[in-house]
Amino acid sequence: MADLTRLTATELAATIATKDASAVEVAQAHLDRIAAVDERVHAFLHVDAEGALAQAKRVDAGEISGPLAGVPLALKDLITMRGIPTTCGSRILEGWRPPYDATVVTRLRDAGVVILGKTNMDEFAMGSSTEHSAFGPTHNPWDLDRIPGGSGGGSAAAVAAFEAPIAIGTDTGGSIRQPGAVTGTVGVKPTYGGVSRYGLVALASSLDQAGPCARTVEDAALLHAVIGGHDPLDSTSIDAPVPDVVAAARRKDIKGLKVGVVRELQGEGYQAGVEQRFREAVALLEQLGAEVHEVSCPHFEYALPAYYLILPSECSSNLARFDSIRYGLRVGDDGERSAEEVMALTREAGFGAEAKRRIMLGTYALSSGYYDAYYGSAQKVRTLITRDFEAAFAKVDVLVSPTTPTTAFRIGERIDDPMAMYLADLCTIPSNLAGNASMSLPVGLAPEDGLPVGLQVMAPPMADDRLYLLGGALEEALLGSWGAPILEGAPAL
Ligand code: GLN
Repeated sequence: MADLTRLTATELAATIATKDASAVEVAQAHLDRIAAVDERVHAFLHVDAEGALAQAKRVDAGEISGPLAGVPLALKDLITMRGIPTTCGSRILEGWRPPYDATVVTRLRDAGVVILGKTNMDEFAMGSSTEHSAFGPTHNPWDLDRIPGGSGGGSAAAVAAFEAPIAIGTDTGGSIRQPGAVTGTVGVKPTYGGVSRYGLVALASSLDQAGPCARTVEDAALLHAVIGGHDPLDSTSIDAPVPDVVAAARRKDIKGLKVGVVRELQGEGYQAGVEQRFREAVALLEQLGAEVHEVSCPHFEYALPAYYLILPSECSSNLARFDSIRYGLRVGDDGERSAEEVMALTREAGFGAEAKRRIMLGTYALSSGYYDAYYGSAQKVRTLITRDFEAAFAKVDVLVSPTTPTTAFRIGERIDDPMAMYLADLCTIPSNLAGNASMSLPVGLAPEDGLPVGLQVMAPPMADDRLYLLGGALEEALLGSWGAPILEGAPAL
């Protein structure tokens, strides 16, 4: 039989439905692949072979069917799954086994998806490389000395290394799209409120959004359709039908689609090969019948500084719950020390440097006397960025840009330079601040280093289908041209 790990989710579901392979065989093939390569990739923090095989058996017994029944998936380790460790890449949650499932997990189980395990990430999703994981970095399957992006580098690397055909990530400032770009995979940040946040450990509640990682646009759409939609357990969840992303991915006709190239997301600081592949992809869109315009979003240049006030502020408040008292790590509790001392010792030992940096920054930005000057101003900038998007979407249907200014950098290269690390998210952050829908899809390899380049598509809130419309058409056109090697996937490990 052909190597089952090389098939897409769509192909696997068909193979299982026609009984050419059982769901158990498919799950076992992926567990074997993990056993063979994950020592080098380190995409997984926890593999749940028993749970995966039990779910696969239910599919084989005919208890569950559907477009993703029996398809294996990797889950980012800040999404709760009952009884399975959830670490968020941090020591502070040591020993915690959540007593409940996230809504995303419930929906995956109900759809017959086989969850293989939990993937590595930067601590509490703060970072662009997975180097801030307390459990060591993940390695990029295209070059093991390079980062797979972050914070969801584990999910993207698992998909790029054929350890799982699909994965779930979360995106607060780019953590699905930036790893997607640097690993040659598809990553989608749905509209804010489009996918339930219930059971996601919060980083910055006004920005966080779970979404799909996949090797093809259609696979991402199938996953989006399973996890999306209103959830009464999340008060910010949008009570409206999810646009038909699957039909959009399959349409493959973008004649007349108005595409805006964002003037501010190119030029100085962008790697030549990234710009080249981006420009070629835009030319291809034009050949496919899209109308391409240049569009200006003048306030995007303030997105990064505004984000680095809003995110630390919200995260300092959210991370205050890790206090050693109710669950997770507890350090120095010798019966003599006060609760405050134990709390301080635990937080000192349990949080890494980047988490501490942001907690301190955020606490400062929210302190009385500074609140308006920092947090208040950043929120005003956020409104201006939202208005830039609104003005742009009055003229065009979607916006495009490179997903990241550069291809994957080397492990260690930016670890001591927070600003350089933050710049990896220059292009992705505006969509989080405005809450709109956004996708990264691979558009080839940069000529100078042979590493994947991602193109970002941005659409208005609740117009997620436009991402898939453009993505599906561009992916198909690329298959017949310079994009072919990337779509075949990362070199065998
Ligand atoms: N790299 C960004 C950060 O460090 C993105 C985080 C995210 O999307 N979770 O904040």
